[in-house]
Amino acid sequence: MNDAARTTTAPGAPAIEIRKLRKSFGDNEVLKGIDLTVRHGEVVCVVGPSGSGKSTLLRSVNMLETPSGGEILIEGVDVLDPDVDIDRVRTRIGMVFQQFNLFPHMTVMRNLTIAQERVLRRSRTEAQKVARDMLERVGLAEKADAHPGHLSGGQQQRVAIARSLCMNPDMMLFDEPTSALDPELVGEVLEVMRRLASTGMTMMVVTHEMGFAREVGDRLIFMDDGVIVEEGVPAEILANPQHGRTQAFLSKVL
Ligand code: ADP
Ligand code: MG
Repeated sequence: MNDAARTTTAPGAPAIEIRKLRKSFGDNEVLKGIDLTVRHGEVVCVVGPSGSGKSTLLRSVNMLETPSGGEILIEGVDVLDPDVDIDRVRTRIGMVFQQFNLFPHMTVMRNLTIAQERVLRRSRTEAQKVARDMLERVGLAEKADAHPGHLSGGQQQRVAIARSLCMNPDMMLFDEPTSALDPELVGEVLEVMRRLASTGMTMMVVTHEMGFAREVGDRLIFMDDGVIVEEGVPAEILANPQHGRTQAFLSKVL
């Protein structure tokens, strides 16, 4: 992807365009034709039962899964085009998982600098400056020299978010970022995400936190069995789900 091929990151311009996306694992078709456009600055929350294909959808956007069919464009670039430099596109997309995936033997600071130095070729000094800024943003400036094992789950997840932000992503994908946390630690992570959204970050968030979806999400997508069953303004869907499958799911999580 050369710079001329990159489209604008202005608010409202398409960030992620998914067209007729299909994905099978053997005989098991888990995405059955997904159409979805996420615009820059938008926060799209994805909810749905376990096994409905939410993680596969996010992983496809980040090219951790290869689609069986359809198209994915990231800022206008077709990521399935064999001539496209996938690694370059992937640096535009941050991803945060349920499991924080920090390097346990490295300090928080080193967790935040290593990819900056190796992938973005930043100097150690520059990478450390960016890392300190990002730790400040997630409220963990004083933990730079700690090892992940000495942090709470909520703090580790905030470090994982800071680590992603160090790469200057244009968009962030979150796959159930609070599902592994003790209930009392969920709020601090959602607060970091809420602040990130308020800066205009483009976000796709798979979550069961309906309060977050209602207050922070611009759009709610309900997935079941590999399709988008229903989508719209979160407060409207939550108050008045149209589809039986959405109603059944919401009655269990609300
Ligand atoms: P969700 O995140 O909504 O719980 P997933 O996207 O993880 O759903 O999974 C959707 C379906 O795809 C499930 O039936 C799951 O077993 C299957 N699946 C996911 N990843 C793989 C894989 N790597 N190999 C085989 N099957 C998979
Ligand atoms: Mg999942």
